[in-house]
Amino acid sequence: MARYTDAVCKLCRREGQKLFLKGSRCYTNKCAIERRAYAPGQHGQGRKKVSEYGLQLREKQKAKRYYGMLEKQFHKYFLMAERRRGVTGEILLQICESRLDNVVYLLGWASSRAQARQLVTRGHFAVNERKVNIPSYLIKAGDVIAVRAALIDSDAMKEIIETNSGRPVPQWLSLDDTANEAKVLNLPLRDQIDAPVQEQLIVELYSK
Ligand code: SF4
Repeated sequence: MARYTDAVCKLCRREGQKLFLKGSRCYTNKCAIERRAYAPGQHGQGRKKVSEYGLQLREKQKAKRYYGMLEKQFHKYFLMAERRRGVTGEILLQICESRLDNVVYLLGWASSRAQARQLVTRGHFAVNERKVNIPSYLIKAGDVIAVRAALIDSDAMKEIIETNSGRPVPQWLSLDDTANEAKVLNLPLRDQIDAPVQEQLIVELYSK
């Protein structure tokens, strides 16, 4: 599957804010945004007047980067959201949040969404007791997600869990640390989603 392979800190600098793409480094003063809070490239520090279209485009790019998606998949989610009843922007974010790689990250079983994607692809998680190795798998309310045996006792997993233990788990997920599993209580409502995105701008862009 196609994916972004360049330096990810550039993406945060381009959006002018932390998108937490690099795990624990994002919480230290080694974070590129802490040191160079301007866009990369020769003209990164220049003042720019941004058009309405430019604002909408940046918001879409930010959301894609935050969730680690490319255009094709993100647009597919927008079309899904448009077909569902409700506020399209909120449903779009709800779909993005429901991806298995995102849920694994939110549960603290990975230090970044990129790492979560890698672990899911390797088959380290099960949904309702069945192995799922598709990062874009969309979980539903009531699903039970578990770390599979091969990963539970590994030193790598212990280190990941220890590193991420201070990160709060969102209210729509119920984590049972002792069993290394979690239940999806409900699909997230907008106020339960932390994404630094103004989704209405994305809807306006795609609706042109
Ligand atoms: Fe973004 Fe993390 Fe890099 Fe900081 S360290 S710029 S938050 S990816």
